[in-house]
Amino acid sequence: MDLLEHRGKRLFADAGMPVLPSRMALSPAEARAAAGELGLPVVVKAQVKTGGRGKAGGIRLCRAEGEVAAATADILAMTIRGQAVAGVLVEKAVEIARELYLAISSSRAQRGPVLIFSAEGGVDIEEVARRNPGALVRTPVDPLLGLCDYQVRDVVAAAALDPELAGPDGTPAKQALAGVVRALWRLYLDSDATLCEVNPLVVTGSGEVVCLDSKVTIDDNALYRHAELKAEAEAGVEDREARARKAGFAFVALGGDIGVLGNGAGLVMSTIDQIAGAGGSAADFCDIGGGARAEVVATALDVILSMGSVSALLVSIFGGITRCDEVARGLVEVLGQARVDVPVVVRLDGNAAAEGRAVLAEARLPGLTVAAGAAEAVRLVVAGAAAHHGPATRRED
Ligand code: GDP
Ligand code: MN
Repeated sequence: MDLLEHRGKRLFADAGMPVLPSRMALSPAEARAAAGELGLPVVVKAQVKTGGRGKAGGIRLCRAEGEVAAATADILAMTIRGQAVAGVLVEKAVEIARELYLAISSSRAQRGPVLIFSAEGGVDIEEVARRNPGALVRTPVDPLLGLCDYQVRDVVAAAALDPELAGPDGTPAKQALAGVVRALWRLYLDSDATLCEVNPLVVTGSGEVVCLDSKVTIDDNALYRHAELKAEAEAGVEDREARARKAGFAFVALGGDIGVLGNGAGLVMSTIDQIAGAGGSAADFCDIGGGARAEVVATALDVILSMGSVSALLVSIFGGITRCDEVARGLVEVLGQARVDVPVVVRLDGNAAAEGRAVLAEARLPGLTVAAGAAEAVRLVVAGAAAHHGPATRRED
């Protein structure tokens, strides 16, 4: 389960990590009131479970009182990488002297936690890793030994902070940084996280170390130990990821305009790559897994189309445990209600493919094409998206 920035920052604060005073706001008026309490300047930040908000315009620095409500209204109207903005975090702004990157992440390759640090924060860490891999500190942490002092010292050394630099209360910046690294490790353990990321971790103009952003993912398997977090997440507006989780499939919004639904993570990922190779761009990653029934297919389609940014849809099924005729019935259930007006391309191969194609042929759904294979399906859907004008509308609304 991914936490929104504001929720992650509350965990940071509880773990003793330095964050700035902030308030959540769901309307321009609330944001204006929050800015009044905090004092200007403030930063208004879109609360969506995706990075890259800065680049997308979802983060605005407001110096004057009059700017806050307008910035909030703009941000609340945005969709960032397929996600509607649920609210904004109004946070006291600081003058940034340096941006660092710090994370503890569960690594499949290491089969355990890895501490990652970069003196070049603020930007995509993937980009730093590509451009300047030497700038990254990556150290596996032995879960039984815990984070060792030498690992903390490695991070502090890599940050190359001025030894004289200290915050307004006299705490040396190097010491503050070491404290953040240790606290982040504790938080990772105590919250059963698979990711605790601070990007940027900043050093302010006045020598303070502050966590300016948070990205925390809690292991779904451990959610029963975090009833409070789980309840809060479910009490909020149910997001697409949560709906998918409940229905038992995986969904991630990606920001393109071609909806993708398939069975198996590998199939879906390679389909997304093929779409990109053919000049298209996927709107989502949606893996209904093995053995999915018609009902799951129907929910998955509904989740994908609810993004409102889809101009063509590709369903690619390689039936193993999954029966293609079950998938076909799910498609007929949703598409048969004439709710979708975008081209739909379906590829069915493997278990019960012939039966599945027969179900689709019998239903005679307008706008649905059955492709002869995976490659043709990709070609057809990319062409269909290019020809279709505007995103899907659902006629019932
Ligand atoms: P992300 O783009 O979704 O990762 O959002 P971040 O919270 O990391 O913010 C993106 C960028 O906005 C940061 O790297 C900062 O450069 C800038 N930013 C965020 N908060 C502040 C602030 O309080 N003051 C200033 N000057 N810039 C900020
Ligand atoms: Mn960030």
